[in-house]
Amino acid sequence: TQAHLDAMAKARSLNAYLLETPERALAMADKADSKIAAGEARPLEGIPLGIKDLFCTDGVETTAGSKILKGFEPHYESAVSANLWRDGAVMLGKLNLDEFAMGSSNETSAFGNVISPWRRKGSEAPLVPGGSSGGSAAAVAARLCLGATATDTGGSIRQPAAFTGTVGIKPTYGRCSRWGTVAFASSLDQAGPIARTVRDCAILLTSMSGPDPRDTTCADLAVPDFETSVGRGVKGLTIGIPKEYRVDGMPAEIQKLWDEGAAWLKAAGATIKEISLPHTSYALPAYYIVAPAEASSNLARYDGVRYGLRVPGKDIAGMYENTRAAGFGREVKRRIMIGTYVLSAGYYDAYYVRAQKIRTLIKRDFEAAYADGVDAILTPATPSAAFGIGEKANADPVEMYLNDVFTVTVNMAGLPGIAVPAGFDSQGLPLGLQLIGRPFDEETLFAAAQVIE
Ligand code: GLN
Repeated sequence: TQAHLDAMAKARSLNAYLLETPERALAMADKADSKIAAGEARPLEGIPLGIKDLFCTDGVETTAGSKILKGFEPHYESAVSANLWRDGAVMLGKLNLDEFAMGSSNETSAFGNVISPWRRKGSEAPLVPGGSSGGSAAAVAARLCLGATATDTGGSIRQPAAFTGTVGIKPTYGRCSRWGTVAFASSLDQAGPIARTVRDCAILLTSMSGPDPRDTTCADLAVPDFETSVGRGVKGLTIGIPKEYRVDGMPAEIQKLWDEGAAWLKAAGATIKEISLPHTSYALPAYYIVAPAEASSNLARYDGVRYGLRVPGKDIAGMYENTRAAGFGREVKRRIMIGTYVLSAGYYDAYYVRAQKIRTLIKRDFEAAYADGVDAILTPATPSAAFGIGEKANADPVEMYLNDVFTVTVNMAGLPGIAVPAGFDSQGLPLGLQLIGRPFDEETLFAAAQVIE
């Protein structure tokens, strides 16, 4: 813990942590020491972790990367972080993120962007760590924690993991409780870990998961010890390669990496099979209707009364307007406007209902592949390696949204997906592959990802 606190103090220029909690960390570490001395070590005893600042932490400021929550100190602990503390982990601090987890580069944070510890060969130009869990990925990659919590609504665990050479898993929707995690799009949001290795992710996910009556969408299923699936291999498994993921303009090095990944799995005993997921190309536009629709509803609660920021106005409506105008950033306002529009009378059927129908078709595509004997699906994690800070943030927002083309399908279908580092591009930057599994079969993902890492 002390070594990590020292490393964090030296790496503040990365802006990975929004808040360091050294006193709490050292107190937790002391308790871990005494548990170990007493021979009562719990599964994560003394393991120092960073917590994405979307998880409410009891008595510790929780901002969701937004000015509107500045100063908000919850008096409760999120289910996921509470599970980690129950198992002996130590909290180092709260990690930076895109505002309300809306973004793919950590550039929408109200508290400044995160800088990736990676650089292109021969260049000092700073790169994004991905998003929205950019602080989590950068902190793990820069050795500022042993693992981190993250959340994934459309790729926010897997894309930053791929950009930073780390491992990240979004489990099946319902595997982790969403209780106490600031909501973005409730039917898509899932928590998961980012860590250095597949094994570390398996260990962390085992602790983070589990039934919770406070979240009615949380599955009432026993959690396997995921670590036991690491090293199991892929002999006898069928891995699907979906042809629709060969998108136009995909760089040759991404295609090469994907072919190599399939070859490694084949050499380890898997059968590789080309499959079709015909509705893939509709996933991104449908996601950018469903996610903003849910966000516009979830964000209605930030009214200047219940949480954080309040900007006075001439009457209550004025206070409400002023608070939201000052408290929310550009991207969040864009999502609220899109979401309100697609839910409004006259447009609801044309946009929201259609997007929900597409969602069902996407889910059925996966169900058909799994019914046909496919055990897991291999795709690239992202269409490119990490890009430069400012490179896409100032362009058309759709440029940024295109980053999620390989990851959003998985959230729309509620499936588990893991991103695992698989190689480097010509500039020396890490590239990741994604494995998508059957519902509640994270074990196959851990087994297969370990063959690739
Ligand atoms: N980049 C996507 C978005 O901005 C996904 C974000 C996420 O998974 N939280 O909506």
